[in-house]
Amino acid sequence: MTYIIKTAGKKGIGVFVKRNIKKGEVIYEKDYRGHGKIVKAKDIPKLSEKDQNHVDYIGRERYAVDYSPISLINHSCRPNAYIYYVNFLLKKVIAMDDIKKMEEITVNYIIDTTGKWKMKCYCKHKNCLHIVSSDYFKLPKDLQEKYWKYVPRWKKRMLRK
Ligand SMILES: [Zn+2]
Repeated sequence: MTYIIKTAGKKGIGVFVKRNIKKGEVIYEKDYRGHGKIVKAKDIPKLSEKDQNHVDYIGRERYAVDYSPISLINHSCRPNAYIYYVNFLLKKVIAMDDIKKMEEITVNYIIDTTGKWKMKCYCKHKNCLHIVSSDYFKLPKDLQEKYWKYVPRWKKRMLRK
């Protein structure tokens, strides 16, 4: 295993790398085939608050309630990793930059999430947006360009509508 799960201050728990990681390296892979708890978008409000914070979009208006490491990775406004969608049921966490041993793995939720939600950001970066949502166009223009290659195809389609 390349990662360890431990507390990450105000953010609760986070996922950290156990060794140095090179840019482009696959850190974690999540296969949702055979995953237990899958719900429709309309049923999310019926879930417990904790479960509602752990739903991952897996396509066709379906969400997986998931507590595997991929769902525990915290957001950062300047992330060091991104999620690559082989397809909706197979996702890979890939290093965007070199990551040093015991550094926290972070992704930018704006890049690959959908739906109406908002959360406070505690990434502490000097250009932190403070409030995060799935709205890609809330990103500063330069970051919209920089991260476009990491936006999954399904979200690009939604954004072009
Ligand atoms: Zn932030």
